[in-house]
Amino acid sequence: MTTETFQTFEELGLNENILKALQEMGFEKPSPIQAQGIPAVLQGSDVIGQAQTGTGKTAAFGIPVLERIDTSSNAVQALILCPTRELAVQVSEELGRLSKFMRGVRIEAIYGGDSIDRQIRSLKKGVHIVVGTPGRVMDHMERRTLKFDEVRMMVLDEADEMLDMGFREDIESILADMPEDRQTILFSATMSKPIMSITKRFLNDPTLIKVVRNELTNQNIEQVYFEVKPQAKVEVMTRLIDMHHIKSLLVFCNTKRKVDEIVEDLQLRGYASEGIHGDLRQQQRSNVMSKFKAGVTTILVATDVAARGIDVSGLDGVINYDIPMDEEYYVHRIGRTGRAGMSGKAFSLVARDEKYRLKSIESYTKVKIEKGVIPSFEDIVG
Ligand code: ADP
Ligand code: MG
Repeated sequence: MTTETFQTFEELGLNENILKALQEMGFEKPSPIQAQGIPAVLQGSDVIGQAQTGTGKTAAFGIPVLERIDTSSNAVQALILCPTRELAVQVSEELGRLSKFMRGVRIEAIYGGDSIDRQIRSLKKGVHIVVGTPGRVMDHMERRTLKFDEVRMMVLDEADEMLDMGFREDIESILADMPEDRQTILFSATMSKPIMSITKRFLNDPTLIKVVRNELTNQNIEQVYFEVKPQAKVEVMTRLIDMHHIKSLLVFCNTKRKVDEIVEDLQLRGYASEGIHGDLRQQQRSNVMSKFKAGVTTILVATDVAARGIDVSGLDGVINYDIPMDEEYYVHRIGRTGRAGMSGKAFSLVARDEKYRLKSIESYTKVKIEKGVIPSFEDIVG
């Protein structure tokens, strides 16, 4: 491996069409994980890439995957596994943007909840890159509606989240069925024992690329907590929204029931708000997401699982309505804002019995969360 660091996408030797797309997407220079990850993947060896949320891991594997697709064949040449339906859609859309000026590259997102018959019809027409959730990919493998004999690249995206979600067995059987001479690439925000065991079994002398700062959380995010009685949380939330003129907000809570309650309360107060959680059908989830992305709704209330990996550009902030049970969730939650160098706000509403959890988050992330003053009515009306 060279130790040279690449400052521009041109220096990475990418094809003209991808450079043109990157320009149109507004990517001015590669992020650190891209500067190191793209050449490593292009070189052809197995790669493990670790970088925090929001640092551009998708393009780090997406660009080299696109570089290596042979459009003169109709076979599936790359399989990308993602933890959730939303992420599979998001990754396939980013690949679509990156390949906008390339001719004939076909990309298909394959996930549960969507009609399998429609997926089968699309797959029959020939697809080069499959982006899928492990469960649905397994389903297609069993039905023999997806053939992987010609897969040359296999990507495990957000590996930590996939394992957290219980996909270990599916991932292992998919990997076991891939052609031996493929290239395997794994990206993750965090590294854990189960991930290391997968890499030991299925990756071949991988190149390890690690771009992590000491702090797990992004410095562009302003982290503040407010001490609030549980029954006053919605009121405080609306004051924060008004005072900071927040136009696009993701609110996290720990249960599905809470999601529904908060949405109802916010709607009664006149805020354009909708909820997303695992009980919604795929079609409903997609509708909620597209309305939020289009700015029709300004507040999206979500559980952790429903919001995994969601990338909404231009999110002004994240509010932790509840403090998550798991410190890692806190990192994932607030990582939704302050992406791609933009600033963002992360507010946590802390009831007395949640304070100890805030403390353990601080020691986990090694960052002090400042205490904020709850805006008064006068602060808002001016
Ligand atoms: P990760 O997978 O590491 O969480 P993503 O790949 O989802 O991060 O990227 C986060 C956001 O940053 C996306 O909106 C993406 O389009 C944008 N982005 C990625 N790379 C760049 C870049 N080099 N320049 C500007 N924006 C970028
Ligand atoms: Mg990602």
